[in-house]
Amino acid sequence: MKVRIKEQVLEAILEAARIAYGNNREFMGFLRAENDVITEIVLPPNPQFNPTSASTRLDMKPLDPSIIGSVHSHPGIARPSQADLVFFSKFGRVHMIIGYPFRVQDVWIFGGGELEIVK
Ligand SMILES: [Zn+2]
Repeated sequence: MKVRIKEQVLEAILEAARIAYGNNREFMGFLRAENDVITEIVLPPNPQFNPTSASTRLDMKPLDPSIIGSVHSHPGIARPSQADLVFFSKFGRVHMIIGYPFRVQDVWIFGGGELEIVK
């Protein structure tokens, strides 16, 4: 599976993950796509909130059919927790975890997809 994403969106996600890490937090956002390309990150209503449970995250999901999945960062390796897997199974089709140190090659895609960066 190819996950197509705008270069500037990917850069914004990686930067947000780095900033969150510096503040001892995980970054979390929803992914919005147009014509199968991820074009925007939609932040949860309260960006200070650090969601850990799947049900809490679903409460924050905007009611918007262009939202196709989620992205969040981990302070260590990008391996999904049990809560992550429950969340991924309940909503969306594209889920990404960004592991430390938050470079393009630190992006993990649920289901084993590959990033395709679109200019
Ligand atoms: Zn996680």
